[in-house]
Amino acid sequence: MSEADRTTSPVRVGEKRPVTPLVSVLVPVFNEEESIDLFIDATSRVMERAGLPCEFVFVNDGSTDGTLPRLIERSRGDPRVRVVSLSRNFGKEAALTAGLDHARGDVVVPMDVDLQDPPELIPRFLERWREGYDVVYGVRASRASDTPSKRMTAGWFYRLFNRLSQTRIPENAGDFRLIDRRAVDVLRGLPERNRFMKGLFAWVGFRSIGVPYERAPRAAGTTKWNYWRLWNFAIDGLVSFSTVPLRVWTYAGALVALCSFVYALIIVARVFLFGVEVPGYASLMTVVLFIGGVQLLSLGVIGEYLGRLFVEVKGRPVYVVDGVYQSGEILPASERVDRA
Ligand code: UDP
Ligand code: MG
Repeated sequence: MSEADRTTSPVRVGEKRPVTPLVSVLVPVFNEEESIDLFIDATSRVMERAGLPCEFVFVNDGSTDGTLPRLIERSRGDPRVRVVSLSRNFGKEAALTAGLDHARGDVVVPMDVDLQDPPELIPRFLERWREGYDVVYGVRASRASDTPSKRMTAGWFYRLFNRLSQTRIPENAGDFRLIDRRAVDVLRGLPERNRFMKGLFAWVGFRSIGVPYERAPRAAGTTKWNYWRLWNFAIDGLVSFSTVPLRVWTYAGALVALCSFVYALIIVARVFLFGVEVPGYASLMTVVLFIGGVQLLSLGVIGEYLGRLFVEVKGRPVYVVDGVYQSGEILPASERVDRA
């Protein structure tokens, strides 16, 4: 074994992992009444077959349909089901944060409720975890279930993100992964309000490995993302993990200044050689408008960061819990985890 192999070996000396870890299946749900039963039944089957104890932590992200009553109903007959209900729709990232705060397992597996993340993968994730990996993430072997335009834009995003950010996020990996308790505790300790989970998962580090899988089409219901939401999500991700968009304006400004200087020299030389020339309206307008556009754009970028700074400084909680339910009953407030 070469030296390089030894340092990448996943085994931490002396570490003992539980033989049958408690798996917290963490599921954010937003208007998904059709999918809940399918999801719980399919996942339970897999976990029971593999002999793995699990708990379900559902985070109801302000659903307006029958999702919450359905979840409470399921929790009545199944003590493994816990429901964290948020006071309104806070978005998937906030819902995941709430779920991480309320999960008690030795490992946590965030999953979509629509069965696009196959539960059959959990035992395979655990195999890698037993080998010593702390984060085992699912890699979509093909994105056949996505539209071609979504595939293309997603590809651009990953390339841009990884070029601009020091934190690398693996391409075609979603939130579907297995996270060891140590990493969960680090994630919970991160104070930021702007929670681009894919980035944070990667930022935490530890020994990580990908497991390829085929992403199934949605089992029921419809996607909660439109292009505008995805675009904002992409900007959130980039801006919270890179300051390159801020710095780039220094160079753009320097380049424009240099060009203007050269152009000024040319004009002066022309005056000396050929005398004063009056026409020049078109070139003047072009330059003024161009510089104006560049200035507005760079101001906009500064605004993006300032806006996020504003959100962080206000220090509002990432989510607000309305109630936590187990066995069909609402739990006392002491069972709730609220973020300061
Ligand atoms: N979701 C959520 N809050 C939101 C939007 C989505 O909790 O504001 C949940 C949704 O219920 C689902 C998961 O996030 O369990 C993934 O959403 P979806 O399947 O619509 O995304 P896609 O798979 O199309 O990317
Ligand atoms: Mg989905």
